[in-house]
Amino acid sequence: MTDRYAVFGNPIGHSKSPRIHTAFAEQTGQNLCYDAIEAPVTGFAGAWEAFVDAGGRGGNVTVPFKQEAFALADVLSPRAQLAGAVNTLLVGEDGRLFGDTTDGVGLVRDLHAHAAPLAGARVLLLGAGGASRGVIEPLLEAGVATLTVANRTVSKAEALAALFAHRGDVTGCGFDRIEGPFDLVVNATSASLAGDLPPLPNHLFSADGLAYDMMYAAEPTVFLRWSAERGARSVDGLGMLIEQAAESFWLWRQVRPDTAPLRELLRREL
Ligand code: NDP
Repeated sequence: MTDRYAVFGNPIGHSKSPRIHTAFAEQTGQNLCYDAIEAPVTGFAGAWEAFVDAGGRGGNVTVPFKQEAFALADVLSPRAQLAGAVNTLLVGEDGRLFGDTTDGVGLVRDLHAHAAPLAGARVLLLGAGGASRGVIEPLLEAGVATLTVANRTVSKAEALAALFAHRGDVTGCGFDRIEGPFDLVVNATSASLAGDLPPLPNHLFSADGLAYDMMYAAEPTVFLRWSAERGARSVDGLGMLIEQAAESFWLWRQVRPDTAPLRELLRREL
């Protein structure tokens, strides 16, 4: 029997998740189908329940439903609890709903794939929204030495840093208080979506510094162009998307797909 999975979001037309998971299933010989479901903005829980009633086994959740999925889950992984969000749902054998988040591990795996400096690194995280919160714990676990969260709304950066301060050297500030240099700068703002660049100081990167933008597009984002002009290596978030999907796939099927072919394929299709 073919097992059903789906990604829920609004809007969802742009989602690459069906493409990725269908390719993973073909590669690993798993008998599953994966759809994209646009739930009404105020109707995520109903859409999910209808999906499960029709035999759905698990799913991904994207904007704007990650907090609602968090609230809906009966059991949460420790990393989902820390992130305050769920991007992966799984219906257990006992019928209970398990919620996890794979965004953070996706980022760290992609950083490793690009030989990013993590152990002992000074890291700057731009943005204090959901994506930023989800990657802090995995970055600390990867051994970064210091983590500075900088955000347009300063109070949000400070509140987020305070949440993780007991787990490592984590501080929050506004863009005007950023003090480099950093070995790694991760742009987790949505500024790139609008073609904007946060106001950043010129001497941001250390000698081998790496710039990572969670957004991805056919052309480098304005943040990646700005960083490359200042001598930093630059990487976009396509690999993070693929790695978080691979982790979800593993949670559902206990099979780990090879992400390398997908990286090349999706890059060509951007
Ligand atoms: P949120 O809406 O939760 O947070 C947005 C953040 O961006 C806030 O910190 C906000 O600051 C900041 N921001 C927005 N516009 C600007 C601007 N013009 N200048 C400076 N800062 C700005 O979004 P998410 O955290 O969910 O997502 C952030 C980005 O990460 C998106 O581009 C998303 O596509 C990407 N992403 C990529 C993933 C991947 O797999 N590659 C996975 C998850 C997310 P303020 O608080 O002041 O409003």
